[in-house]
Amino acid sequence: MVMGAAGSKLEKALGEQFPEGERYFGLENFGNTCYCNSVLQALYFCVPFREKLLEYYSNNKTPLDAEDNLLTCLADLFTQISSQKKKTGIIAPKRFVQKVKKQNELFRSYMHQDAHEFLNFLLNELVDILEKESSNSVKNSLAASSASQSVKIVNGPQLPLANSGKNEPLVTWVHKNFQGTLTNETRCLRCETVTARDETFLDLSLDIEQNSSITSCLKNFSSTETLNAEDKFFCDKCCSLQEAQKRMKIKKPPHILVIHLKRFKYMEQLSRHKKLSYRVVFPLDLKLTDTVVDPDTEYSLFAVVVHVGSGPNHGHYVSLVKSHNHWLFFDDENVEIIDESIVQTFFGSAQEYSSNTDHGYILFYESLVRDGQ
Ligand SMILES: [Zn+2]
Repeated sequence: MVMGAAGSKLEKALGEQFPEGERYFGLENFGNTCYCNSVLQALYFCVPFREKLLEYYSNNKTPLDAEDNLLTCLADLFTQISSQKKKTGIIAPKRFVQKVKKQNELFRSYMHQDAHEFLNFLLNELVDILEKESSNSVKNSLAASSASQSVKIVNGPQLPLANSGKNEPLVTWVHKNFQGTLTNETRCLRCETVTARDETFLDLSLDIEQNSSITSCLKNFSSTETLNAEDKFFCDKCCSLQEAQKRMKIKKPPHILVIHLKRFKYMEQLSRHKKLSYRVVFPLDLKLTDTVVDPDTEYSLFAVVVHVGSGPNHGHYVSLVKSHNHWLFFDDENVEIIDESIVQTFFGSAQEYSSNTDHGYILFYESLVRDGQ
């Protein structure tokens, strides 16, 4: 481990204000692994998520012969960072990156990767591992309890075991942090019946427009769409295809709202993806209003994964993170303190050709109301 000069500079810059118990570590790049580093920093400073991972690590000290997985590698990495003696420095997330490459061939090459795809892959992978662990522990406890029952209960009635919740999906702490519910409402224009279908999400991918804002992108996301002509809706009440109006709403907003701006758009004329450098304002404080079934939910921005570069197949990722009311800039090994006003330089470009190619790509908001979970 190399102690960079940047580390000591950061400590000097923060001085007395360096938050108690906090660690600001840069992450070594192993050849185009900035997509991974930028997402890791955003997740590390997602405090409720970090706390759960540290807790997981301390409860599940893996025996040496146990096989590691992405969850144990990530928990190990976060524990390594948080337990450093020094307050700043550089850590090599080698084991974690090796595991990512082993698990998913998409990330195996040294090519430029998509940070959003990586985040998506990682969260889903963590959910899978937690679900598997939980179903194993249910099986184990079932085996244990049925064994003890056959000993204790001789003539008593057999208790129906664990029938409850068999078909209900398990809610892991990854879900508790990131999962929200969308509801898809379709109103038949003939009989006015509204059919609602719910679906869950771990992040929202939003289409973007030039000179817009998150609020207007969210408005478009939940705007009413008419289904007609070729695209009619089968109404169960009318028992036939009918014209209908469809609308998507956020039913249950997540505790951590992750917004992915669709900056990489497939251009049919070009037969390739193009990066949209559009200026999309993302506020430090976001209010979800007409998109939500519940009244206002307020969020505070705490991390931004930034894509640097003009094209989709090359470039670089960095992240901006808010920690204890300071904004920090993470660029692989380097960590710097930045002024809050710098955040707005990552909104995008109002003109198509601009020398500024650093654009906010994934936004992380935390709900200001902590639901006692
Ligand atoms: Zn109908």
